[in-house]
Amino acid sequence: MQLVDRFNRRITYLRISITDRCDLRCLYCMAEEMTFLPRAQILTLEEIYTIASAFVDLGVEKIRITGGEPLVRCGALDLVEWLGRLPLKELVLTTNGMRLSECAGRLAAAGVKRVNISLDTLRPDRFRRITRFGELDRVLSGIETARRAGFARIKLNTVVMKGYNHDEVADLVRFAVDKGLDISFIEEMPLGVIYEHDRSAVHYPSDKVRADIEQVFTLLPTPERTGGPARYFKVVGTETKVGFISPLSHNFCADCNRVRLTVEGRLLLCLGNEHAVDLKQIVRRYPGDREKLQQAIVSAMALKPKQHYFDLNERPVILRHMNATGG
Ligand code: SAM
Ligand code: SF4
Repeated sequence: MQLVDRFNRRITYLRISITDRCDLRCLYCMAEEMTFLPRAQILTLEEIYTIASAFVDLGVEKIRITGGEPLVRCGALDLVEWLGRLPLKELVLTTNGMRLSECAGRLAAAGVKRVNISLDTLRPDRFRRITRFGELDRVLSGIETARRAGFARIKLNTVVMKGYNHDEVADLVRFAVDKGLDISFIEEMPLGVIYEHDRSAVHYPSDKVRADIEQVFTLLPTPERTGGPARYFKVVGTETKVGFISPLSHNFCADCNRVRLTVEGRLLLCLGNEHAVDLKQIVRRYPGDREKLQQAIVSAMALKPKQHYFDLNERPVILRHMNATGG
């Protein structure tokens, strides 16, 4: 059986947020004071595995583990090992890199093919300002450990904000080239209410980022599509790919192939809409009933909206922060 929505899009990619907690407080992602979910409200690792394997039976080929910061959850590595035994084409993980030095070896051994590591700046003072209490050195050594751990590919993720890090995009590409990594530049999305900055004032569109990089490097478009709001380019003469993730300035919903599972067990059909189905209720009410779970997943596809609309000049319509969404 396969998962197909009303617009004939095949859903093959599941992103799972395994915790809403994090050891950082990035300005664009969270408010400084956050209330996290109580334990009883979040899926257990076993429940996450049950739901993930039901998706795999329904044709999902790729799973991304994310959060919050996935590596702060106790038992995260056990879960990754269980998921690594499912018949997936790709198991990937997104992390802020703070704990990679300790975890990279086990992740690679568990079958994680690629890791995405968030890195918005190469300057320690800016890093602290953007993440509120992160240590750049720790992330840089996490990146080094990951490079040696044997992942097929490592990608950096950079959220670009005017006045915070927009003038560093070429330096970050240089860093990626020197280390043999890929890098994606992301437009900040209006997810959750934040007070420290005005999102429309710091918006720095992907086209500008690309023009800034092209002052220094030659970029060649690649045909690669991942079914999301990203376009990829090769840095000529290097192994590095540069991606532009532009949910605001470009809308690629027609190719969308993904859904998200929140740590509360809500299946979100679209990043920019609230359409959701409560899978926690199904796994708790009918434990062991795989058919019920699969039926709920299949029927949820009818709720997947055609596209999202983000408007930085409006108050966010999506009140959940990115950590609760699973970026
Ligand atoms: N903690 C991990 C990390 O930072 O990589 C994984 C979760 S984080 C929510 C996933 C990605 O979402 C990160 O690359 C982060 O930069 C990005 N992100 C968070 N809030 C965002 C926002 N409002 N707009 C765009 N990207 C955002
Ligand atoms: Fe934490 Fe990642 Fe959000 Fe930063 S982007 S606060 S590291 S979950």
